[in-house]
Amino acid sequence: KPVSSIRLATPYESRGPEEFDQTGDVYAPQLESIVRAQLLEIGENPDREGLVRTPLRVAKALDFLTNGYATSLDDVVNNAVFDAEGAEEMVLVKDIEFYSLCEHHLLPFIGKCHVAYIPTGKVIGLSKIARIVDMYARRLQIQENLTKQIADAVQEVTGAAGVGVVIEAQHFCMMMRGVQKQHSWTLSSMMLGSFRENHRTRHEFLQLIAKR
Ligand code: ZN
Repeated sequence: KPVSSIRLATPYESRGPEEFDQTGDVYAPQLESIVRAQLLEIGENPDREGLVRTPLRVAKALDFLTNGYATSLDDVVNNAVFDAEGAEEMVLVKDIEFYSLCEHHLLPFIGKCHVAYIPTGKVIGLSKIARIVDMYARRLQIQENLTKQIADAVQEVTGAAGVGVVIEAQHFCMMMRGVQKQHSWTLSSMMLGSFRENHRTRHEFLQLIAKR
């Protein structure tokens, strides 16, 4: 079920880019004043030239990076599920790049997502799988939940016999702070139905995504 969107003053799309260059223009007044307060709090001067428009830019960026809250699975899939009688072989979309924000630090975690399913007569448009990944990635997340939500969504939409999702990600909260490990990758997986029960199906999936 979709989570309600954060309420921003005016949608970015409805305004021309030139409007945003007008001094004093406001996009999301509350959010912008919070960002301004943040700048003060870290010892910056929000009135210096380089930072004057920063609250506005941050509000716009955050709006975009969390627009998955304003989207539902129905919106994304938009009836692009098709009958495909006899389609019972694994469908795999691999290396779907994604950009998300960790809910603990609001720092990016980015990487690749691999999604496979075994249809039972119904298939989903391939680009829709990438859009499902985007929808959940553009919310505050932890990698494990992102993996599960994508798998559950594909299962729900296709009624598949099984779904497998693997995510490989790098977390900026580990790279830039904390343990400062720049080269570690975090892997997570979610196997549903035949991917969980059938060793050979799971093995085939993992073999296919390991191929470069
Ligand atoms: Zn984090």
